[in-house]
Amino acid sequence: MPVSPTPLPTPSVREALDHAAATTPTTPGCSSGLTSPPWDEDAFAPGSSLGYGPGASMDDVAPVGMPRQQTLPEDLRDADEDELQDRIVAARRALGDRVVLLGHFYQRDEVVRHADYVGDSFQLARAATAHPDAEAMVFCGVHFMAETADLLSGSEQAVVLPHLGAGCSMADMADVDSVADCWEQLEALYGTEADDQGRQPVVPVTYMNSSAALKAFVGERGGIVCTSSNASAVLEWAFERGRRVLFFPDQHLGRNTAKAMGVPLERMPTWAPGRPLGGNTAEQLEQARVILWHGFCSVHRRFTVDQIERARAEHPGVHVMVHPECPMPVVDAADSSGSTDAIVKTVQAAPAGSTFAIGTEINLVQRLAAQHPEHTIFCLDPVICPCSTMYRVHPAYLAWVLEELVAGRVANRITVPGEQAEHARTALRRMLAVAPSPARGTATGQADR
Ligand code: SF4
Repeated sequence: MPVSPTPLPTPSVREALDHAAATTPTTPGCSSGLTSPPWDEDAFAPGSSLGYGPGASMDDVAPVGMPRQQTLPEDLRDADEDELQDRIVAARRALGDRVVLLGHFYQRDEVVRHADYVGDSFQLARAATAHPDAEAMVFCGVHFMAETADLLSGSEQAVVLPHLGAGCSMADMADVDSVADCWEQLEALYGTEADDQGRQPVVPVTYMNSSAALKAFVGERGGIVCTSSNASAVLEWAFERGRRVLFFPDQHLGRNTAKAMGVPLERMPTWAPGRPLGGNTAEQLEQARVILWHGFCSVHRRFTVDQIERARAEHPGVHVMVHPECPMPVVDAADSSGSTDAIVKTVQAAPAGSTFAIGTEINLVQRLAAQHPEHTIFCLDPVICPCSTMYRVHPAYLAWVLEELVAGRVANRITVPGEQAEHARTALRRMLAVAPSPARGTATGQADR
């Protein structure tokens, strides 16, 4: 296991945020509050509010039941960056192979530099299965990712999320009660009988970015999980088994994927939760091939066609590459779209001197720019605005959970309850069987792994 972190590429997003706050105090659409310590938002902190906080998710409503992080010990809140980095390294050295540290592409560099694996949510979940002897996985990402790691790792292994408030606003846009209500209405409309080709009236498909409760919901009803890497293969699987698909929570991934497969837009109604028939007519739903839940990612919906046109005007020959969670007009206007892993691989494979304008979370874009000085790489959105929930995993929380493990205590353990876990695993196993496994997470190349 690594005990010395990889070098920190500069400038980090935090440094850029500090600079932006100092020079442009009123950044449009993104609050400079991210430069404040994240423990100001934790439970019991004076004045803390129930919300996702500043960042790209600041306008989204946090669910009432969102877990709150307990207040960090004072010595960690007072520690400067160097001390925190030293404490993380010391704790990792003490824990050795007992702990595996997983870091999502969108995490800040000050955290990712300590990771054994860096990748997207699915890659990291698979990485978690590669260390059956480790006692704990520390998952530097968001809540649904830690749940998936718990589903796929051994029952004795603890999955730890450094900050309990690190959720995902998109995942929270589809709660199990609202989806169950939608399902009931669809069953009342379509019935439950298969047609003469054995196809069900509707097959539920959930994006990986959803709670374990929803993965269990689809697993129990003949459905499946997808990722941004395998969404078209998963939709094909679903169309073989059903006349329609109910796709949640991300309307954009569903729409972009189905459109590329030839499904006409008029056969993709959007389901607005809380409204009768999701705001559609019975006829629209009868004609539907894909019913799209009204969810979105606050980070990826910030990208616009205007930004693409500006990038092309200012950088002739630029390759515009966006994530499929971006709205359809943005994906249509881009040169290519793909998962975070596909974006990383495209940059790695490009000839030196290439120019990329990338539409995905700023931490990944900044890191790619630092790792590939042979290219010109910049974010399509000129405003520094990271995913606020990802950004909650500050090095102080990482130091805290690691030091707790050294002391024999497991803080912030994420577990999926038994029956729910069984059904959720069914949906995940279907996904693993249907599509070739995506490339593994990028091991960080530290010398002593
Ligand atoms: S980037 Fe978007 S989808 Fe990813 S965790 Fe943040 S809000 Fe969720």
